Amino acid sequence: MKRDPRFDILFEPVKIGPVTSKNRFFQVPHCNGMGYLRPKSLAAMRGIKAEGGWGVVCTEEVYIHSSSECDPLVEGRLWDDDDIPALAKMTEAVHEHGSLAGIELQHGGYCSTNHYSRIPPISPSPISVDSYAPIQARAMDKSDIRNFRKWHRKAALRSKQAGFDLVYVYAAHSGTLLTHFLSRRINRRTDEYGGSLENRVRLFRELIEDTKDAVGDSCAVAVRFCVEEFLGSQGITSENEGKEIIEMLAELPDLWDVNISDWSMDSATSRFESEGYQEQYMSFVKSMTSKPVVGVGRFTSPDTMLSLIQRGVMDLIGAARPSIADPFLPKKIEEGREDEIRECIGCNICVMSDELSVPISCTQNPTMGEEWRRGWHPERIEPRNSDDGVLVVGGGPAGLECALALGQRGYRVILAEASAELGGRVSRESRLPGLAEWGRVRDYRVLMLERMANVTIYRENPLSADEIFEFSAEDQFDYSHVLLANGSSWRRNGLGRIHREPIPGLDKLQVFTPDDIMDGVLAKGRVVVFDDDHFYMGGVLAEKLRREGHDVLIVTPAPDISTWTHKTLEQKKVQKQLMDLGVELATQTNLTAAETGKVELSCIFTERKIERECDSLLLVTERIPNDGLFNSLNGDPERLTNAGIKTLKCIGDSFAPGTIAAAVYSGHLAARELQAEPQEEVPFLRERIQI
Ligand code: ADP
Ligand code: SF4
Repeated sequence: MKRDPRFDILFEPVKIGPVTSKNRFFQVPHCNGMGYLRPKSLAAMRGIKAEGGWGVVCTEEVYIHSSSECDPLVEGRLWDDDDIPALAKMTEAVHEHGSLAGIELQHGGYCSTNHYSRIPPISPSPISVDSYAPIQARAMDKSDIRNFRKWHRKAALRSKQAGFDLVYVYAAHSGTLLTHFLSRRINRRTDEYGGSLENRVRLFRELIEDTKDAVGDSCAVAVRFCVEEFLGSQGITSENEGKEIIEMLAELPDLWDVNISDWSMDSATSRFESEGYQEQYMSFVKSMTSKPVVGVGRFTSPDTMLSLIQRGVMDLIGAARPSIADPFLPKKIEEGREDEIRECIGCNICVMSDELSVPISCTQNPTMGEEWRRGWHPERIEPRNSDDGVLVVGGGPAGLECALALGQRGYRVILAEASAELGGRVSRESRLPGLAEWGRVRDYRVLMLERMANVTIYRENPLSADEIFEFSAEDQFDYSHVLLANGSSWRRNGLGRIHREPIPGLDKLQVFTPDDIMDGVLAKGRVVVFDDDHFYMGGVLAEKLRREGHDVLIVTPAPDISTWTHKTLEQKKVQKQLMDLGVELATQTNLTAAETGKVELSCIFTERKIERECDSLLLVTERIPNDGLFNSLNGDPERLTNAGIKTLKCIGDSFAPGTIAAAVYSGHLAARELQAEPQEEVPFLRERIQI
């Protein structure tokens, strides 16, 4: 297919200092949990972005000196020459596809806890580190500042040696030394590096000049700068100092990469912000510089991208998450297949992997993070090994992904879904407050499946074990493999992390589960939500019920509400929103018993008890896999053989309840593994430490 000429402008080359990007698609730096520990995985992942058409592909933050590290988080490292080969792997992979490679040089200042190096962190002024760790940073003297400039210069030279085309001077997000110098909150110096804005900007300016001097002949010097910190007059705002700093340095770098801070604002989830949310803060930048400007905002729509260029908001379309969800986004637009873009849903499961120091994963793109270790490609898959037919039961995220990947392999696939609607939990959950974009998990897959001649979808087709046995040999169906993706159901008895026995007295109260609320069953009166699940569900349902006019008390044994959402950068926003709505919060509290019209709560430390009125109790604790169908089929091997069913597998939540990302991954994995060679003992390659 040919691309729509409207989008030609997105494929214009852009000159960035001494280098030229082949188009306007710019993968901005993003973390990935691979970093210096897993360079082969990293190179393969970045290489696929380049193959997918991103004109510029950047690293994550790459730490330049032993005085700044963030172990156990895994980021990039360029402390000395021996770090060059690992990074060179990435530039080679990117160059192979004609794209430019960029490196974001980082020193974290007082935000580096340095647990590993044991070197006291440095900062413009003495200050405690950002976490609750008992560590304080020491103030830098003039020789420290000179040294820092030297380290940065050396890192820039090493970057050039590693093959990078763009070298960043990084002053964005709250955790960078340069941002600390810029900040009047952090920088309390009285010398020429503190006080007036001119003085606070001095080091930033010097670093840009140093970098240009060191590598500017052949590398573009990019600046990443945050124009809005959301700290009012204490911070940089797009109204005052953000603007003034850009004005002061306007023509100095070769490229302005501008965003908002901190990371939870920069990588806001779709629950709180929609596509293009940063534009209002950064749109002034282009009017102040002749240099190319790149910005981000979870852009997945080609029309939005077009409009950003046409309206002069930016020159390059920056993306981290949209490039993770679909590394081939630019190629799809280029080839006139923009409707096939697998749009990011803004869930931040990718961020969660980084926070856990494990290789990146993504809800929408099950191949993300598996490029090297499993050899998975987002657009290519092994062809089928036989003419066998396959039955997939259940059209939730696991079933949809499984059917899609099997269809792409060329198998004849029948997908049977009990209800009239496809999407399973994704459809149900996307109707909850703030989660509408999650419906994209279904929409992309249904669109692709409906285009496949070898896939037949049967809606409103709840299948029993007998039917699965009986239909297998019928001409119109004829399948030899069965994959069950029947999902899971929320428990109604309180079993979960804190209760390994049912909560007593539940028969005396009206008890609801998340499934009931999503099915439209109405709660009455004062609602108590007991959240022992700790991800988004408890908080989202408390919000929904409060918005519907109920008095809501949310009770959780965790230290704060929806505590796992720290990993998706949402926790503060979730808790604030509930508090603003007037939801009452009881943290570090257990729900120990139910009685008529009330519940008994107890402190998780002292076990001191109180009673609270309750008309409806919503239990958000744990899910039960819907594995009844699997057990019936699996329990009758003779009938399976007689029915010609060669393999039977349970996938997704019906195998082990987890995230939507885990269900998609499970479906994809099962499709890849169908009739494939059995795996070795360890199912994927590992990056081993060489001794
Ligand atoms: P997962 O996250 O594992 O994909 P979901 O709960 O989202 O699980 O989806 C399971 C889907 O399977 C639901 O849409 C449900 O209606 C469907 N389903 C469950 N049992 C059957 C069955 N016996 N026949 C057909 N569809 C089923
Ligand atoms: Fe987008 Fe979620 Fe994938 Fe991250 S994990 S790229 S937020 S879909």
